[in-house]
Amino acid sequence: MSNLSSLKSIPKAEIHCHLEGAAPPDLVRRMAERNNVELPEALFTDDGTFRWTDFPDFLNTYDMASSSMRKAVDYRDVTYEYLRDCAAEGAIYVEVFSSPDHAATMGMSYGDHLTGMVDGIDDAFRDFGIVGRIIVTCVRHLGPERAVDVARATVAELHPHVVGFGMGGNEMDFTQADFRPAFDMAAAAGLPCTTHAGEVDGAQSVRDAMDHLPITRLGHGVRAIENPDLVAEIAEKGIVLECCPISNFATGVYKDYSDHPLPKLMAAGCKVTLNSDDPPYFATTIGHEYEQAAAGFGFTPAQLLDITRNAINGAFVDAATKVDLLQKVDAYQIET
Ligand SMILES: [Zn+2]
Repeated sequence: MSNLSSLKSIPKAEIHCHLEGAAPPDLVRRMAERNNVELPEALFTDDGTFRWTDFPDFLNTYDMASSSMRKAVDYRDVTYEYLRDCAAEGAIYVEVFSSPDHAATMGMSYGDHLTGMVDGIDDAFRDFGIVGRIIVTCVRHLGPERAVDVARATVAELHPHVVGFGMGGNEMDFTQADFRPAFDMAAAAGLPCTTHAGEVDGAQSVRDAMDHLPITRLGHGVRAIENPDLVAEIAEKGIVLECCPISNFATGVYKDYSDHPLPKLMAAGCKVTLNSDDPPYFATTIGHEYEQAAAGFGFTPAQLLDITRNAINGAFVDAATKVDLLQKVDAYQIET
């Protein structure tokens, strides 16, 4: 087993993290204060995370905390500080999901919230050398019509840092197929796509996503394990799985590492990755995911590097940037 300090320097890449869910309590408090937003003290625990009970309560808490983000500079600061912290843990590439619906609820235009994130990405690249990119997401429980509005806004103001389109929110509302018009619009504009499936809901939701949406990745997707034929198809098509084990433990999808299907999916030939999802809600970070996966799944540094390669190969960033990132992974010398 490798020691934790050697794992810290392993190049990492993250392709599943919700930006609004990446702001830790201290930053949420700072933003709330400067924006005169009153947040209930019950929102926070004593150990630097957010307080919530079950999945619907998690979504409520998430909305409450992200209500502190009111201006472009807030999106800049959340993006910049998140990328800074990831870089300190060895991450070389991070794709963040961003929801214009959250920004719109706070009275912000799509363009304003995009400008903030782009500034955060550019400043973090300048200061820490980490490459950040954005996947614009619609929110499933807000419905298919709203999703089309999000896709339309995304396509109308395409920025080079916006590299994909996706969907988060409550997997139990509507069907994947209901969102086909939004996804088709994004795909027609050249944006690759991903959707949450096989997390809270079972293998059928993965089947629905693969049958009806133009996706090359699945958010979580781990419950595909409940259908061996589906697992074989995911492996054959090279669909990348955005796995977030610690998030799954926190929301009760799986009990612990011994219970989690990631190693079985990997053994079946699926392209798995490691991601933090909503880090301060689940008391995790991208570095923690790698460390805990090494301990819990028994992964070697070489296997962790392959997981980073899966993330970069499955990333929605341009091909030239992928070549640069993969060179950094290949140049890494594993300590023996
Ligand atoms: Zn997620």
